[in-house]
Amino acid sequence: MTKLIYLDNNATTKVDERVLDEMLPFLKEEYANPSSMYDFSKKSSNAIKEARVKIRDFINAKDEKEIIFTSCGSESANTAIKGTLAYNKNQKHIITTKVEHPCVLNLYKQLEKQGYKVDYIGVNSNGVLDLEELNAAVDEDTALVSIMWANNETGVINPIGKISEIVKSKNKNTKLFVDAVQAAGKIPIDVQANGVDMLGISGHKFHAPKGVGALYVNSKTMITPLIVGGHQEKGKRAGTENTPYIVGIGKAAELAQEGLKYELTEVKRLRDKLEKGILSRIYNARLNTGIAERVPNTSNIGFEYIEGELILLHLSDMGICASSGSACTSGSLEPSHVLRAMNVPFTAIHGSIRWSLSRFTTEEEIDYVLDKLPGIIEKVNSISPYQKELQALKNLKTANV
Ligand code: PLP
Repeated sequence: MTKLIYLDNNATTKVDERVLDEMLPFLKEEYANPSSMYDFSKKSSNAIKEARVKIRDFINAKDEKEIIFTSCGSESANTAIKGTLAYNKNQKHIITTKVEHPCVLNLYKQLEKQGYKVDYIGVNSNGVLDLEELNAAVDEDTALVSIMWANNETGVINPIGKISEIVKSKNKNTKLFVDAVQAAGKIPIDVQANGVDMLGISGHKFHAPKGVGALYVNSKTMITPLIVGGHQEKGKRAGTENTPYIVGIGKAAELAQEGLKYELTEVKRLRDKLEKGILSRIYNARLNTGIAERVPNTSNIGFEYIEGELILLHLSDMGICASSGSACTSGSLEPSHVLRAMNVPFTAIHGSIRWSLSRFTTEEEIDYVLDKLPGIIEKVNSISPYQKELQALKNLKTANV
């Protein structure tokens, strides 16, 4: 088998063996429905209780009753947003940003068609949110503000505590939903300290399997459930609990909490080594996020005057996995909505590559990429129709060294 260097951890992550070990008994012998009355179901219902406590601690919620298990990050966002608006039918203004994940943006577009007035807050050229624009947008009719904690394509972190202050100072009844899918496991999450009403996470982004997520809804926030049926999850999300996967996300949250220091030091060191190595070796590389504060695992680099898809194909031939945008937008030739909102110059937007590391990334892997990438870029540069521009860029970089 060819080498596999997986640097696409913002798309999904490898399941940690320790997570799988905790899940396996609930896929084999402990298969009882956790809502049943007999003793056989006790282990399942207790395991779910423990997982809920682990998620509570992971995000520093006050009470584990504020945690709802879902199937994914998209379901968490849809439940929070649709659930809030269905409960509160009086206010018709909602706010989000231009750089949200499609699970929020496409829902907002749908809500706009249903008659909601929507404001999409912009970002600057480094991907940093315009807080003045947010401040000006919130008014007495604002039902909900939905803002991600960290961006999936750039890793740029939003100042959630400050955002909550702004929103609540303009309208104390406006609810704040935070999509923390790309922040969980990479930076500390504290819903109480940051004034968050609702928050979504997704297990497969921090080494649990795909198919499980969680939604925090604080005790002061009311939602109408999206999925109606049995009384599971205190009536907020019907459907027989997915015990093994809930156990998995609980264990993954515990491990992520323990591993935060490693993310913030070692994963960051490797990310910085990769980033500096690319920028120093390749004259037509630019860091798309400038000096913006980012999660420690993500780097978004534009290669000017060439096509990202071609770079990805060459990388793939060498066993290296990266991405040219979010998992959902790659595959389309449209440049990413996030990089467009940042006004990344057209010369770099088509050649932008997202590198995302994890606790499993090794130094040897980073060295391998730094060894192979310059040759790949040279090859792709050589067939670019912009030879004059590339030469000018090369001359400029050499003159500046
Ligand atoms: N929000 C963000 C920021 C994401 O990056 C993703 C997935 O890429 C999601 C939400 C959706 O999560 P899921 O794939 O679990 O539905």
